[in-house]
Amino acid sequence: QSNVISVAPILTKLKNDCAAPLPVLRHVADAMAEDMRAGLLFDGGSDLKMILSYVDSLPTGNEKGLFYALDLGGTNFRVLRVQLGGNEDRVVDTEFEQVAIPQELMFGTTEELFDFIASALANFIEKEGGKFYLPNDRTRETGFTFSFPVRQTSIDSGILMKWTKGFAVSGTAGKDVVACLNEAMERKGLNMRVSALVNDTVATLAGARYWDDDVMVAVILGTGTNACYVERVDAIPKLSSKNSTSGRTIINTEWGAFCNGLPLTEFDREMDADSINPGEQIFEKTISGMYLGEIVRRVLLKMARGGELFGDSISDKLLTPFMLKTPDICAMQQDTSKDLEVVGSILYEVAGVSSNLTARQIVVEVCDTIAKRGGRLAGAGIVGILQKMEEDSKGLIFGKRTVVAMDGGLYEHYPQYRRYLQEAVTELLGFEISKNIVIEHSKDGSGIGAALLAATNSKYD
Ligand code: ADP
Repeated sequence: QSNVISVAPILTKLKNDCAAPLPVLRHVADAMAEDMRAGLLFDGGSDLKMILSYVDSLPTGNEKGLFYALDLGGTNFRVLRVQLGGNEDRVVDTEFEQVAIPQELMFGTTEELFDFIASALANFIEKEGGKFYLPNDRTRETGFTFSFPVRQTSIDSGILMKWTKGFAVSGTAGKDVVACLNEAMERKGLNMRVSALVNDTVATLAGARYWDDDVMVAVILGTGTNACYVERVDAIPKLSSKNSTSGRTIINTEWGAFCNGLPLTEFDREMDADSINPGEQIFEKTISGMYLGEIVRRVLLKMARGGELFGDSISDKLLTPFMLKTPDICAMQQDTSKDLEVVGSILYEVAGVSSNLTARQIVVEVCDTIAKRGGRLAGAGIVGILQKMEEDSKGLIFGKRTVVAMDGGLYEHYPQYRRYLQEAVTELLGFEISKNIVIEHSKDGSGIGAALLAATNSKYD
């Protein structure tokens, strides 16, 4: 068949360019560890920002009382309350609500956005009852998960550097988002204060730690990616006041910005050049859910040009950036039918092309190549973090059970990706050490994690 002959060299080159054999993984892990170290020396010392979270104490399980969590990080605003019963009773009850942020508020003023949030919160607080109980003399306390770039100045304050993800609210950049929220809550007469401002990765770590003392790292693999970990304050040269009582603090690595030694292809370079942030977030663009489908689309488009892969027509859909999504390539990889019918129908419906069996097999190989590279590099990144921690605390990471809490839609829903990630970790660490390293899914830990951080940073006790 002619299509195999002309498409084969593109596939071969793709596989070569994406290959992440052990030496490449080792280089990535070493570079990650080194970049982390550089970022801890001084601000701007590395691609990795290594942001101080000001979270110095993690949940122990003893937390008691009623706490709230708010989560603003995308198109939805989430609120949650939890009644904590201490070591015996643990989570007595939780309740949860989600409100879509009206489109116009994403382009409105700071007051409008935060007033909307405060109103949603007021509605939610009104329904407090049942097993939820606040002593009379107490102010409600909440954790605030805010997943936009913030320069944090304490556990309960942080200045918005810029809006991202389609938000363009006027007047917020340069302001303390906690103050903005507190003011809006005051305008509504709400009896509540923000006691912890956290990033979603940090909240995930806290949520997982509540159930398992060995959790030391948290990684998000969803639309984007990020990781945080527990660091010793004496290993952070750029931290001036080392008055953490635990001697430890959580560092938010912002590892999406990593770019050292990654195996990249012409397709990655073109996608980056066409992106809204060229040259930035290269690790994120190689391993996270927003991009895997788009990389595959670009490969298929090249294969299809000249009529080699899908016959004569190149569809408008195949020409449209981000038409093919990561859940689509994931679904294609799950197809076990003899004729690859699922692959055929996704190609037809999403990419607008007809395909024969040979073409479908090639498409699956392309998906697998991109998912495999992503998973393996994510695994190498995780080992880089563990390696950095181990170097500073010999035996305390590799010599005992250590848990990496994972969350995000990509990790949760893409079995091949998850397997490739685990394989890379095992290859890098070797069989013996990797028995100590537990990489596990911590589903939706971030909501309760933020509430737990409100508890550990409570002004009472
Ligand atoms: P977010 O990261 O946007 O806050 P999630 O953690 O739920 O939210 O991640 C959503 C992302 O996960 C999607 O953008 C997509 O890339 C990825 N994803 C969702 N479902 C699947 C799936 N079935 N297979 C592969 N990836 C998926």
